[in-house]
Amino acid sequence: MIRSYTDYPLQKHHTFGTSATARYYFEFTETEDMKGFLATNREWKNHEILILGEGSNLLFINDFQGLIINPNIPGISIAYEDRNNIWLEVGAGVKWDDLVEYAVFNGWGGIENLSLIPGKVGAAAVQNIGAYGMEIQTQIESVSGIDLETQTEITFEESECEYSYRDSIFKNKLKNRFIITSVSIKLDKFPEFILNYGDLKTETEKHGAINLRNIRKAVIAIRESKLPDPKVYGNAGSFFKNPVVETPVADQLLATYPKMPQYPGSVNTRKLAAGWLIEQCGWKGFRRGDAGVHEKQALVLVNYGKASGKEIFDLSEEIRQSVQERFGVELEREVNVIGSLP
Ligand SMILES: Cc1cc2nc3c(=O)[nH]c(=O)nc-3n(C[C@H](O)[C@H](O)[C@H](O)COP(=O)(O)OP(=O)(O)OC[C@H]3O[C@@H](n4cnc5c(N)ncnc54)[C@H](O)[C@@H]3O)c2cc1C
Repeated sequence: MIRSYTDYPLQKHHTFGTSATARYYFEFTETEDMKGFLATNREWKNHEILILGEGSNLLFINDFQGLIINPNIPGISIAYEDRNNIWLEVGAGVKWDDLVEYAVFNGWGGIENLSLIPGKVGAAAVQNIGAYGMEIQTQIESVSGIDLETQTEITFEESECEYSYRDSIFKNKLKNRFIITSVSIKLDKFPEFILNYGDLKTETEKHGAINLRNIRKAVIAIRESKLPDPKVYGNAGSFFKNPVVETPVADQLLATYPKMPQYPGSVNTRKLAAGWLIEQCGWKGFRRGDAGVHEKQALVLVNYGKASGKEIFDLSEEIRQSVQERFGVELEREVNVIGSLP
């Protein structure tokens, strides 16, 4: 199925819910549709491209003047299985949490801690989504799609995806150039549970035995108690990444701020909690007009109703600046800002 529009309203296609339009919009459900579009609409090359999933990690600061491509490809199928593992081929347009529910229902582990993360499967492979001690990269076998530059279908093995914390080749070199159409995900028939993050173990035990279904229930309960539902208040989850600093910098910060939470990072680095830094600067619960900082989670910026993308963006810049001034730490955005500033 194909849907193609001009001057298309995007408000329902992203979770901040701010008002914006796309000059051109193309949605498809089969890879062949996209190939046909590229072959017959040569002028697409003149436009800026944005590949869209569910829009749960985007902030539009003005109307998008280019072409939005939405690869809304459905389907979960079993590609292969052996005694210990099962490999699923999943369409880029499948809702991420539908996949988690399907895996947990069948008793296959590896993604249960990633329950209730909004978005589509294609974007999950772009973002290297993570939560409660799990990252999707460990379960990804390969990622397939169409390279717009060469107009060929390519499959990247996991080792070629350049994964790191909330990062991948698809967010950098191949950003808006490679349309992910499907992802191959490897799940475990005899999973080892990861429960050492926050209060996940205690919360799981409240639901009974430690098993996949109860871990999923616990993750959902924790997330629902801490994070605003985008259907109620527009948001895109964590607005900033947790900053990673060199160990000597982390030590110096700890000497000045002994209560600062720090977590082990990769070699000679530590991860800081962006939410804590923002809260210390007094932003938690702040609201200006309809743009604000969530009252329970300072890392989440919120559209309380009619905020514009620009108002939310301006607030985020003020927050970034105040954290820089107070702690000397640079916050990097996790949310993709779309559009240009005047
Ligand atoms: C309430 C809330 C909680 C959240 N919690 C978490 C969390 O715990 N952990 C976490 O990691 N994230 C979290 N997020 C962020 C978000 O859900 C993820 O980043 C998600 O993977 C985005 O999926 P999407 O389909 O909405 O992608 P979009 O926002 O539409 O796109 C994200 C990026 O991926 C690109 N993209 C999308 N689809 C494709 C494709 N098929 N091919 C190529 N590029 C593509 C886009 O161009 C864009 O750069 C949260 C968001 C919200 C609103």
